[in-house]
Amino acid sequence: MTLSTEARDRAWLREAILLSHAAPRSKRAFSVGCAIVDSEGRCVATGYSRENDDLAHAEEAAIEKAQRAGVDLRACTLYSSLEPCGARLSPRRSCVVRILEVGIPQVVYAYAEPSLFVEAHGERLLRAAGVEVRSYPEFADEVVAVNSHLLGATEERKRPGGERV
Ligand SMILES: [Zn+2]
Repeated sequence: MTLSTEARDRAWLREAILLSHAAPRSKRAFSVGCAIVDSEGRCVATGYSRENDDLAHAEEAAIEKAQRAGVDLRACTLYSSLEPCGARLSPRRSCVVRILEVGIPQVVYAYAEPSLFVEAHGERLLRAAGVEVRSYPEFADEVVAVNSHLLGATEERKRPGGERV
């Protein structure tokens, strides 16, 4: 990983975290923000939790916008403030499945999904399918702050790689 990749990742994760503040708060789901960026470094779509309806996930909202705009997502990177879900409570397809369907090859996230609602295993499932995944747990405090109504100060943190501390 080059320094420029890390610098770019951090800049877009900050953008994703900013977007997560736009999400209407819910007691049943996290507030997440997502930006999809093409290989030229241009943002092709953004999304946040519950943007279009009460069940919408940030990644799903962004992917749908990019698809409507006719973007080829097979050369894009998806940045999310939270690990994309590998399972969800609603009957909709998980964000991992959506990411794999459109062929997004790289996913970068800030904070591993806490097992508050489901055991999601998003990163593991993405990696198993050949997606390159990078995470930056240094942003955890900012993501927890946006979700302070769900995650108390004593919330257990996960180690990178998904094992609970
Ligand atoms: Zn999701």
